[in-house]
Amino acid sequence: MPIGYNGPMPGIYDLHAHSTASDGTLSPRELVRHAARAGLEALALTDHDTTAGLAEAADEAFAAGLGFVPGVEISVSWNAHVVHVLGLGIDPGCRLLQDGLLELRRFRDWRAREMGRRLEGAGIAGAFEGAMALSSGHLVGRSHFARFLVNNGHAADGRKVFRRFLTRGKPGYVPGQWASLENALSWIRAAGGQAVLAHPARYPFSRTKLRRLLTAFVAAGGEGLEVVSTSHSRDDNFTMARHARDFGLLASSGSDYHGPDNPWRELGRFPALPEGCTPIWRDWVLPAFSDAINA
Ligand code: AMP
Ligand code: MN
Ligand code: MN
Ligand code: MN
Repeated sequence: MPIGYNGPMPGIYDLHAHSTASDGTLSPRELVRHAARAGLEALALTDHDTTAGLAEAADEAFAAGLGFVPGVEISVSWNAHVVHVLGLGIDPGCRLLQDGLLELRRFRDWRAREMGRRLEGAGIAGAFEGAMALSSGHLVGRSHFARFLVNNGHAADGRKVFRRFLTRGKPGYVPGQWASLENALSWIRAAGGQAVLAHPARYPFSRTKLRRLLTAFVAAGGEGLEVVSTSHSRDDNFTMARHARDFGLLASSGSDYHGPDNPWRELGRFPALPEGCTPIWRDWVLPAFSDAINA
């Protein structure tokens, strides 16, 4: 179990954020400093398919007196769609988890080369090398290609570049097989973590299809739903709170922060959980970092 906070006031729990270990633009240390300045109670670092940033972030969280939750965001294929599952409170030393994540990163390396080839075919040279140069070397993703393409004038901004080049059916899109839902959840549970379905309102699913996913998620051992996300509208947050209640899922909240260049998505800048939700952090006992510092 993670890391909780023992203080008297319920604060902001931002349980979804990225660093340069995946496709964020702040280093783990810079991210934690930013979270401490923002006055968060607790931050989870949840990089895509890697735990490479956790040690540095935990070290800085200790120094800053910030509650820290080691996490990961796992790419999952479900019913021909990609969905994201957060593992919160994971032990990064878990072999099963690391073997699984390594396989996903190997697929990412292959996919990046293939994306480069396809973009080359569409008349854009050097995208693979450009994306690699923008990644820290732990993981390469579509966001690194997006930044390369924007920097080189192929699109005006992050949204447009995804729409033109990087989504299904577009020149730089490479479909692929990520983890199965069952495998991703078994890795998270083996690592002692809690599985949370990320940004559930962002998937292009009907209500029926989302409820099918939630049924499978619960059957595979899923415990939480990211009820509040900056990817959601206010209405989405309330709809997801009802789904969480119906499926007996704990509620999580997160910004999905990727860095200061997306000013509309800021650490801790989201509404409180709707009434009636059971926060996933309710039973957490985090080391009281600031007590350790003051002792
Ligand atoms: P990947 O896991 O490498 O396929 O990339 C997924 C990441 O790309 C997400 O975590 C986002 O950071 C980013 N992303 C996906 N779709 C969009 C979009 N439409 N606009 C901006 N960023 C996006
Ligand atoms: Mn991302
Ligand atoms: Mn995601
Ligand atoms: Mn994310």
